[in-house]
Amino acid sequence: MQAFATRSRLGFKKLVLASAMAAALASGSLTAHAQATPSAALMATSSPQAQALHAQIDERAKAIEQKLIAWRRDIHEHPELGNLETRTSALVAEHLHKLGLEVKTGVAVTGVVGLLKGGKPGPVVALRADMDALPVKEQVDLPFASKAKGMYLGKEVDVMHACGHDTHTAMLMATAEVLAGMKDQLPGSVKFIFQPAEESPATFEPDGEKIWGAKQMVKQGVMSNPKVDAVFGLHVSSSYPSGWIAWRPGPAMSSADQFWIDVTGKQTHGARPWSGVDPIVASAQIITGIQSIISRQSNIALEPAVVTVGAINGGNRMNIIPDKVSMIGTIRTYDEGMKKDIHKRLATTAEHIAESSGAKAKVKVVELYNAVVNPPDLVARMGPTLERVAGPGNFGLQPKSSASEDFSFYQQEAPGMFFYLGVTPKDKDPNTAPNNHSPLFYADESALIYGVRALSNMAVDYMLASGS
Ligand SMILES: [Zn+2]
Ligand SMILES: [Zn+2]
Repeated sequence: MQAFATRSRLGFKKLVLASAMAAALASGSLTAHAQATPSAALMATSSPQAQALHAQIDERAKAIEQKLIAWRRDIHEHPELGNLETRTSALVAEHLHKLGLEVKTGVAVTGVVGLLKGGKPGPVVALRADMDALPVKEQVDLPFASKAKGMYLGKEVDVMHACGHDTHTAMLMATAEVLAGMKDQLPGSVKFIFQPAEESPATFEPDGEKIWGAKQMVKQGVMSNPKVDAVFGLHVSSSYPSGWIAWRPGPAMSSADQFWIDVTGKQTHGARPWSGVDPIVASAQIITGIQSIISRQSNIALEPAVVTVGAINGGNRMNIIPDKVSMIGTIRTYDEGMKKDIHKRLATTAEHIAESSGAKAKVKVVELYNAVVNPPDLVARMGPTLERVAGPGNFGLQPKSSASEDFSFYQQEAPGMFFYLGVTPKDKDPNTAPNNHSPLFYADESALIYGVRALSNMAVDYMLASGS
């Protein structure tokens, strides 16, 4: 999840209540787009052949659970920032080579892609994990807690897997081992995507020109040769109890854009404002004005949206009105049309408010990540698989998240579904557990096998249903 994220929290009880609705959504009964496909898919994935494969996945996952946890601890103890994941990607590449996969390294700087060709013809399913850590100093008391340092935008920082990407990498390594062991029985191929820099790179700041992470993986052809038919990914979350699986059809995570507003006035003495143009007062009006883009001008009955000014800089002394004030902020949306509209209104509002006082505003918006949108027909098709993996009473409807994920770039190339896996220990309250990105973020390792089973079963069920 993106570093600029703020997450809304739904009361856990409400979430439990929502699970019945999730089941209905997942089985397709509430989704307008779900037609014959889900039931055909359900038949194909409940055949004796399918059941034998499911049982095999469970056995193989259980057999390597300790290895999975050991990988996770090793990666957790040695976290690496975006685009610097050399140790992690070497570990991944070595593992995939050992499993006999076709392996590409150095994709999008440190990314690794492994291709497992099944014994029978069928679709290509991609499974994705991100590998990067965050500039956070770990405060969790664990024998394998991180003491690592790294360079972030030219400065030395403490580094921690505070978003749980260590668990994602370990789970996908284990999934590769499970599926490689069943290779001859697989009706299709699986592409394992180990991606760097989901949280943005540590080596440069986004400027609207350079690309990284998923976008760069896509640009370098990860979704073609062979062409990917469907892509799946997960994120661990402190908002759900350990092993709980949550998903949502349609817009599920927001887009993230960054904006810069520079307001230029005319410097003068603080005691004689009329002899200059005050960019500080103009900036204050602009900040208030852009809040009305959401509250008065956007159809928030369609989708919610957020505009936040996160930093403002200007001036250096109490009695000098400065020449210039700079602001930066973020925009979160779930709908492409609303997003473009907000961008336009942001520029209009800032420019015209500045103009009204004789100042000038220059507005720049850079689109970072698009919204994660799970196609309802794919969700209807894969929901029963996740329900089976999670078990009764252990899954629910994911509330919309205002965090962002570059998984959205894969979804632009092929139908893709992204879901959450809970990692808060069962004796702790997910509503008060430290969030992802907190120095106290803690992932319960007993959840990890659910992730391995979910990804493996999704790949297998997608293949089986495609042949039906
Ligand atoms: Zn993340
Ligand atoms: Zn994150």
